[in-house]
Amino acid sequence: MSFDELNAHVIDAGLCEGCGLCVGACKAITIEEGVPQLTGRCVLKSGANECGLCFELCPQAHPETIQEDVIDSVITAVSVRTKDKTIAEKTSNGGFVTTLFKYLLEKSKVNAIVATTGEKYAPQGTVIDDLKELDETIGTRYSESGVMISLFDAIRKHRSRVAVVGLPCELRGVSRLEQRISTNVIKIGLFCTNNQRVDKNGKKVKMSSCEHCTDFIATHADISAGFAGSQKGFTSVIALTNKGNELLNELLNAELFETAEVSFDKIKAAQARKLKREAAEITPSLRERVFEELKQSGPLEIKTLAARLNAPSDKVLYHVLVLQDLGNVIPVEDKQDPYSISWQAIM
Ligand SMILES: Cc1cc2nc3c(=O)[nH]c(=O)nc-3n(C[C@H](O)[C@H](O)[C@H](O)COP(=O)(O)OP(=O)(O)OC[C@H]3O[C@@H](n4cnc5c(N)ncnc54)[C@H](O)[C@@H]3O)c2cc1C
Ligand code: SF4
Ligand code: SF4
Ligand code: SF4
Repeated sequence: MSFDELNAHVIDAGLCEGCGLCVGACKAITIEEGVPQLTGRCVLKSGANECGLCFELCPQAHPETIQEDVIDSVITAVSVRTKDKTIAEKTSNGGFVTTLFKYLLEKSKVNAIVATTGEKYAPQGTVIDDLKELDETIGTRYSESGVMISLFDAIRKHRSRVAVVGLPCELRGVSRLEQRISTNVIKIGLFCTNNQRVDKNGKKVKMSSCEHCTDFIATHADISAGFAGSQKGFTSVIALTNKGNELLNELLNAELFETAEVSFDKIKAAQARKLKREAAEITPSLRERVFEELKQSGPLEIKTLAARLNAPSDKVLYHVLVLQDLGNVIPVEDKQDPYSISWQAIM
């Protein structure tokens, strides 16, 4: 898999959510107005046989279907409001994420934080290793940020002694990166229903890449946070791993927050709504037709498959990627043309 596949399957198909993982991973890729582009030389085009890192890391090339029962994996859930006055003044919710980051830096539990900075609708990633700069990161920015470009800068300098905040899709990509380079950062997720992009006319538009997303709680996070389930001015916080749970308990014991009861049912309902949206967005029968056609006709490229089913190629591609995630189809490379990928059903 090369940048050509990433381009065809994700970027041109309108599925890129601008996380920046492909850009951070490869010097040949840059990002212009939220769109990754190959501006340098891909090693696969210079005779190398293996790489494919850009495609392998991309969360949107590897979608996952998150079921409602994922909620059962939550270890601790609590609603909190920071006692830190500076953070409380600037944050949109309870200031949990920034208070956590402040604690991690103060106690030297990490060397750097990867977060966002900049305007609400024009954010960018940043690496913070000086507590004085943490204030710049406070607050929610409702737009794509390319934050994961900064994660690479932080890992190169500080290896695993890093904490990163990201949206559910972005943390799915970070998990893939951790498998590839054996690093283990602290992952803080933000609940997410949708993201937005500012178009050329300055208008805010919902990102089409979000239509098929089923992860609300950020299942790849150690700890995740959002406003769902809390009263105004508080953040709902859930621990999803043992590492996250230990850290959350440490923070609660340090008495950095006022606490309140969290409505777990509201978080559960938001997760369920996202799954229902995906089901409504995508007719299940198209997924079945994709699988049937691949079973009947052997390996097919996306454009051929889409033409045969008389369906839009981005929707067909999405189903193929989900079927791959479920282990029902595999990509097959054409030996004559390594840039051409067909898909085959596993029976
Ligand atoms: C696009 C988006 C959609 C969201 N949708 C929902 C939702 O539907 N329901 C819900 O309950 N919560 C949602 N949230 C989460 C919520 O808005 C708050 O971010 C969360 O409650 C944390 O609040 P806090 O006061 O603890 O954060 P703070 O202490 O203010 O810290 C927020 C941290 O998040 C980082 N950050 C801000 N924007 C981004 C971004 N775009 N990408 C990566 N990192 C970022 C900041 O740099 C900062 O480090 C969403 C967040 C975003 C960015
Ligand atoms: S060198 Fe690797 S990561 Fe970079 S564009 Fe080529 S395949 Fe992708
Ligand atoms: S890795 Fe991120 S920025 Fe790159 S194509 Fe995928 S979603 Fe877009
Ligand atoms: S809904 Fe949120 S988590 Fe899902 S793809 Fe969009 S930005 Fe990413």
